[in-house]
Amino acid sequence: MLIKKSKRERKAKVNFMKKYLKKFKCSRCGKIFIASKYRKTNLCKQFCMPFPDVSKEISKELSYIIGVLLGDGNICITYFKKGNYKGKIRSSKIQLETIDYEFNKFFEECFKKEFIYANIKTIKLIRDKTVNKKIYKNHQTYQTYLNSKSLALNLKKLKEEIFSKKFNKSYFLQGLYDSEGSVKFTKDKRYPNSFRNSINLMMYKPLPFFENIKNILNKFKIKSYIQKLEKGYRISIYDKQSIQNYKEK
Ligand SMILES: [Zn+2]
Repeated sequence: MLIKKSKRERKAKVNFMKKYLKKFKCSRCGKIFIASKYRKTNLCKQFCMPFPDVSKEISKELSYIIGVLLGDGNICITYFKKGNYKGKIRSSKIQLETIDYEFNKFFEECFKKEFIYANIKTIKLIRDKTVNKKIYKNHQTYQTYLNSKSLALNLKKLKEEIFSKKFNKSYFLQGLYDSEGSVKFTKDKRYPNSFRNSINLMMYKPLPFFENIKNILNKFKIKSYIQKLEKGYRISIYDKQSIQNYKEK
């Protein structure tokens, strides 16, 4: 009985390989490896397509990616909880799900430019969504995702260390604000008939994170204010000149 099962499993494995995998020969080092059929290059990931050297200046695209990953983007890494593989990585996914197609597409393009082997794609999802017990029927979103253990681990590490690196500040802020930024019109208390614009970023992150953002904004001559909320903080840009500077950046 046991043997029968393993035979079936083996057959399933072979079928899986036939369907989704392909043998490649690395065009740089000649190593033979097996990878997804849909891979766009034949360079081997571990040796010939390594993660960029982040001790040097980080590219615009990667700075944008990190900005997004600190915001709406997600890196999900799950581990085996028991059995032979206990503690090893079970799955790893990098994903961005929003309602804004242009945003998702731009994120995808940055990935393709920075990591040419990345098999990243954007799909449309339609499903019922529940927010605060309210059900939204046929809610439409776009999901950009890829599965890659090495990329997930490297990006997770870089995300945590980003403020100690040399990165493109403008692209980084753009990624962050594309994710989490919002523009708000509030009534000015002093002049009840006029409105005040503000650009806000509200996140559940510790204070030092916001201080870092404030420093970057300062470099662009953008004045900002940090405010403590019940959960997390908000950083706001109020005055006209600063909003103008933000737009030009
Ligand atoms: Zn190679």
